[in-house]
Amino acid sequence: MTDRSETRMPVLFVGHGSPMNLIEDNRWSRGFAGLRDEVPRPKAILAVSAHWFVDGTYLTDNAAPPTIHDFSGFPRELYELDYPAPGQPDLANRVRKLLGAELSGDWGLDHGTWSILRWMYRDADIPVVQLSINRQLGVRRHYELGRSLADLRDEGILIMGSGNIVHNLRDAFRQMRAGSRQTPDWAQRFDGAVADMLRRRDTTALLTAWPDTDDGRLAHPTADHWLPLVYAYAATDDQDRVRFATEGFDLGSLSMRTIVFGG
Ligand code: ZN
Repeated sequence: MTDRSETRMPVLFVGHGSPMNLIEDNRWSRGFAGLRDEVPRPKAILAVSAHWFVDGTYLTDNAAPPTIHDFSGFPRELYELDYPAPGQPDLANRVRKLLGAELSGDWGLDHGTWSILRWMYRDADIPVVQLSINRQLGVRRHYELGRSLADLRDEGILIMGSGNIVHNLRDAFRQMRAGSRQTPDWAQRFDGAVADMLRRRDTTALLTAWPDTDDGRLAHPTADHWLPLVYAYAATDDQDRVRFATEGFDLGSLSMRTIVFGG
């Protein structure tokens, strides 16, 4: 029997934060680049991004997925960048069957995915498939879908969730306007509590942290940036150790905590 740690890919959850991380050389973008050394080189990447939050579970099946500039009001330079990684229609089709999902040629790689990968794999030479998050489903159902992805790890597929453990843009913009960078108590508390749940592998606490707690609802007025963590966590088990590759807050309340499960 092979030791599974030799063959099973780690799983990532990355706090992506502001689109400015696409071009800024900062603590966060250096963290994204450093993830390359945290995982073996994957054969392909299956990304679950906060920014494809729609009425259905879809997989991108484009052979050449377009780069999606799904942000507005940022410097022109950001709109001129692209990330020309190939897709992998075979993998999309395989995951479609695993999840009972559908294929979609209407999306591509959004900034939740390529703002990380642009730093991590600059050559854009690893195929990427994105999985959407169906906003009609409950947390438990997302967890079940994530569990169905776990076996892909034995085939050299890197599963990467991209969101933020605390993501309340109203608070972040208020801080920006006030020129403040203070992390509110609720943000600090929720980020720490989630880190603890992950360390203890407390699935019940994690699956009820949002929307069943006050701090959870403050941290996530909507579920989009929370659920990628549920997918990443669900694809792991108690044999995967948990490491925090990056910790800290940007714009006051935006948790940039990044997690490596396994490896
Ligand atoms: Zn985002």
